[in-house]
Amino acid sequence: MSFTLHGSGAGGGIAIGQAHLISSARLEVAHYEVKPGDIELEVMRFSMAVEKVRAELQELRRSVPASAPTELGAFLNLHLMILDDSTLSQAPRDLIRSLHCNAEWALVTQMDHLVAQFEKIEDAYLRERKADVVQVVERVLKALLHQPGRASAPSNEQGLIVVAHDLSPADMIVFKQHQYAGFVTDLGGVTSHTAIVARSLNIPAIVGAHSARQMVREGELVIVDGLNGVLIVAPDELVLEEYRKRQRELELGRQKLRRIRTTPATTRDGTAIDLHANIELPQDIEQVRDSGATGVGLFRSEFLFLNRDDLPSEDEQFEAYRHVAQAMRGMPVTIRTLDLGADKTVNGGARSGPNPAMGLRAIRLCLAEPQMFTTQLRAILRASNYGRIRLLIPMLAHAHEISQALALIDRARALLDAEGLPYDRGMEIGGMIEVPAAALSLGVFVRKLDFLSIGTNDLIQYTLAIDRTDDSVSHLYNPLHPAVLHLIALTIRTGKRMRIPVAVCGEMAGDVLLTRLLLGFGLRQFSMHPANLLEIKQQVLKSDLARLEQLANRILRVEDPQIALQLLDKLNA
Ligand code: PEP
Ligand code: MG
Repeated sequence: MSFTLHGSGAGGGIAIGQAHLISSARLEVAHYEVKPGDIELEVMRFSMAVEKVRAELQELRRSVPASAPTELGAFLNLHLMILDDSTLSQAPRDLIRSLHCNAEWALVTQMDHLVAQFEKIEDAYLRERKADVVQVVERVLKALLHQPGRASAPSNEQGLIVVAHDLSPADMIVFKQHQYAGFVTDLGGVTSHTAIVARSLNIPAIVGAHSARQMVREGELVIVDGLNGVLIVAPDELVLEEYRKRQRELELGRQKLRRIRTTPATTRDGTAIDLHANIELPQDIEQVRDSGATGVGLFRSEFLFLNRDDLPSEDEQFEAYRHVAQAMRGMPVTIRTLDLGADKTVNGGARSGPNPAMGLRAIRLCLAEPQMFTTQLRAILRASNYGRIRLLIPMLAHAHEISQALALIDRARALLDAEGLPYDRGMEIGGMIEVPAAALSLGVFVRKLDFLSIGTNDLIQYTLAIDRTDDSVSHLYNPLHPAVLHLIALTIRTGKRMRIPVAVCGEMAGDVLLTRLLLGFGLRQFSMHPANLLEIKQQVLKSDLARLEQLANRILRVEDPQIALQLLDKLNA
């Protein structure tokens, strides 16, 4: 029977395909049916993998040096105990036999069940042991992956729509190596980093679809309408035909837009607008070049730090930054220093602190970990010798944070000087305006920095006190809230008055309904997902600045959001 679920559209377009249920991309495992004659072979595959991990753990325990802390031995013993417990060693075998599924799927299904039980435990110490269960499962999965006799995973990814309960930004980034047709997650707000990465995959996606993972079955035909945030399960032929038609129209529109790829982004009255692109990983640069962007306005460098057990070395970071700088051939590349914390944690770790979005995140974390920060600063400075790199510092709120960050940059420069390593001595240093306190104390930013970039995703989160990752409050996420608009307009105008460039690099910059409003406030630099760039360019080409300023000012003055919307319609007409 057909039914519809609603969430928030996180990536444009329409995808039609078969649902593929997954638990987590970090533990991304294929799900396939095992033929009745092969069931016992599959059980044996599982047993061999468990055996292999047991041998590995025992070997590790033997090789622990006497000088190592006692916790290490205890930790290995705990993992051996978890591995030998029947809930992990026996239950998956039963699942393979009863569900006729592959070993990986049985193991992850059992893990989800165990993790859910751990989450109910009151004792905090015991509750945290769920992380150990996950680590043991990951070891067994790795062992399964390298085993011969593994049936092949479905290879028709292009026809699959991933349906998951929750995916972290680190999980999401793994999908860059895949070619799925679409994404649906139960949790997540529209500007969560999970949604942002989904958008950068340039495929239709929906976040906050509530119980999709529970209600959709593996292999079921679904339509993902990433524009309107609608998921249609088991559509009938009529609906299917309608969406196929819309899909064709959208594709046609995209092809038409490509004609303006090399057209300069200039308003009707001749003002040049910079349209830059946001990236997460160096490999995204292909898409940036293809979009006709004239620079990278935001390289979220922290994504280099996710999904790994160690921190990337200075050389590894240097290579990544140099690659982007060279690929952009003299166009500006704005590298944002680490914005770890909140929903982006290293090594798949748990979100830290009682309130991660307000905790030790971004520049706060970097100033608390000067070693890690200096490694990154050295890498960025060294790469600046190979292109036009600009450095951008996230989440600044205090004057002393700016001074301390600048002092560490000076120290990194001095270290490179002492080693005779070259770097661009004129590299510009900018700050993100994403905490209301920053927008309200711009003087110090303007005096100490070379440029500003407004991170509207966080600015909205912190101004309206809504967690951007929490879909239960996503209805309160409103870029048109007068307080938000005031802070944005104030920053743009102050920048103009003080002759310091201001960009917007949050999701608002890629929302075509807001382009004219931002232009009307005086914005001349936008940075967005490459996938949105041509649509925004088209809007710029059709806009007349003289008409926009007055209407934008009126929108700024109205208190009623409904009237603001009406005026916005007028602005966009
Ligand atoms: C923002 O906050 O708007 C921004 C661009 O940074 P991020 O989305 O990575 O927090
Ligand atoms: Mg931000």
